[in-house]
Amino acid sequence: MSEEFDLAVIGAGPGGYIAAIRAAQLGLRVVCADAWTGAGGAAAPGGTCTNVGCIPSKALLQSSEYAALAQHGLGEHGITVSAPTIDLARMLARKDTVVRQNNEGISYLFKKNKVQFLHGRAAFRARVAQGWELAVAAPAASTVRARNVIVATGSNPRALPGVPFDEDRILSNAGALAMDRVPGTLGVIGAGVIGLELGSVWRRLGAEVTLLEALPNFLGVADEQIAREAHKAFTRQGLRILLGVQIEEVRSSKSGVLVRYREALGEQGQKALEVERLIVSIGRVPNTDGLQAQAVGLEIDARGAIVVDEHCATNLPGVWAVGDVVRGPMLAHKAEEEGVAVAERIAGHAGHVDLATIPSVVYTDPEIAWVGQTEAQLTASGRAFRSGSFPFAANGRARAAGHTTGFVKMLADASTDEILGVHIIGPGASELISEAVVAMSFRASSEDIARICHAHPTLSEAVREAALAVDKRTLNL
Ligand SMILES: Cc1cc2nc3c(=O)[nH]c(=O)nc-3n(C[C@H](O)[C@H](O)[C@H](O)COP(=O)(O)OP(=O)(O)OC[C@H]3O[C@@H](n4cnc5c(N)ncnc54)[C@H](O)[C@@H]3O)c2cc1C
Repeated sequence: MSEEFDLAVIGAGPGGYIAAIRAAQLGLRVVCADAWTGAGGAAAPGGTCTNVGCIPSKALLQSSEYAALAQHGLGEHGITVSAPTIDLARMLARKDTVVRQNNEGISYLFKKNKVQFLHGRAAFRARVAQGWELAVAAPAASTVRARNVIVATGSNPRALPGVPFDEDRILSNAGALAMDRVPGTLGVIGAGVIGLELGSVWRRLGAEVTLLEALPNFLGVADEQIAREAHKAFTRQGLRILLGVQIEEVRSSKSGVLVRYREALGEQGQKALEVERLIVSIGRVPNTDGLQAQAVGLEIDARGAIVVDEHCATNLPGVWAVGDVVRGPMLAHKAEEEGVAVAERIAGHAGHVDLATIPSVVYTDPEIAWVGQTEAQLTASGRAFRSGSFPFAANGRARAAGHTTGFVKMLADASTDEILGVHIIGPGASELISEAVVAMSFRASSEDIARICHAHPTLSEAVREAALAVDKRTLNL
């Protein structure tokens, strides 16, 4: 079969499926091809995010949080329960159900919006008079012609050189979300966002977890003060975090995996860590496998990312790229924003993404979230700023809930008072950050937030108090 479309989208992760839906809403004739195969060979649209990323990790974070609550968190509320037993098989089955519901939700949305979905790997075949011809492999096996193509092929986990993932002892994110038993000991190479989330899941379920991080600073992407608070909280939870670690060898051992490493700080000399299982979480690599990108002259940089301009246009006419396969943070909501913007541009509108207001979230306990610049970035750029912080320990709702770790910190321009960054560690940070994103998108000042009524008692009052703190006039501290 060969069909003509206004737009062909390659990849149905958050970048691709959202682009396809938005383009269809705008009246374009859209096809979306995705290669992901789920249980029983069925199509599983949703990409990394739905299948082995955001959604299953949050399902397990939630389940393991309940486990931790049942073990240590109910006593202070006057509730005594006997030691909980963990039915891991059931927990994993629930996670799989949540994933399947999301796969089905995307299939439903495709039908509702009249996006034609093809299950199969797509590759560029040739430039044709009206655009591009793509070959889609089995099971959909077809040829597609489209005026525009959006490449949204995502990313793959980066392996340590010479240490391939076997998903039994040496695990990528996929294996780490599907361990059939709680390991007694677990190593995690890489204490970034994904490493911390996955390490937290298995720590809460009872594993002894050691995180080995190459960088000398913990959570270097976050504001320093937030990272320090997070380090304290995670250490209290029993996560062992080693910094400045240089991995020298990883190999299978009798009881699991042996890691030999050196530490930049502390004792010199090679050290060894033997763990039952090892998660390698050292970043992700943009994925253009099998796309025949080079054959049609699509420009790819040294990192493997497709080169795009600020509108996500590639060097080829009518070919766009969004999400993890291009520059910028590897986040699902960033991919979605780019997908919407490109669909709108193709349809003749003025789509735009502001990378400066993309929030980052770590879904650990406490949660961590931020948007905009850190104190260190502002200092380095020479921008004069004022800072205000407010601890959750002084927030009534946080005290009532018994979640008083952490604080909200707001940074604002010293002369105009425009909010330049908001950094939160504490309960509900993943939701609270939205207020800061809205404020920064409207270029609000800290005074704007300070003047807005926030419901009482809510955690959001801590955001307002941080805004008041910029002007040194907190009301509850
Ligand atoms: C464990 C983990 C947790 C995460 N948690 C979060 C989180 O909480 N929040 C967040 O924002 N981000 C999170 N991320 C990151 C997020 O998953 C990615 O940023 C997001 O999935 C990128 O979306 P995408 O559409 O660019 O690519 P993907 O989601 O990777 O989708 C790409 C799709 O394209 C398909 N594909 C590839 N090549 C072809 C081809 N040639 N033909 C057809 N189909 C093809 C793939 O099979 C896949 O389905 C997490 C990632 C991991 C690994």
